[in-house]
Amino acid sequence: MSEELQADLDSGRVVLGGCVIGPDFEPNRHCNECLYEWETANPDSGEYVGYDEEE
Ligand SMILES: [Zn+2]
Repeated sequence: MSEELQADLDSGRVVLGGCVIGPDFEPNRHCNECLYEWETANPDSGEYVGYDEEE
């Protein structure tokens, strides 16, 4: 896990969320600050989604 992600977790900026991007990528963590989404088990293989969640 990167230091940045750990910092996000520690500061509470990370929330549960995310959507299915691919068959093998089902992020269940999302950082509101840098729009990074990842799987709890694979924090280093997430993606910066960069979308606005408001429709
Ligand atoms: Zn972040």
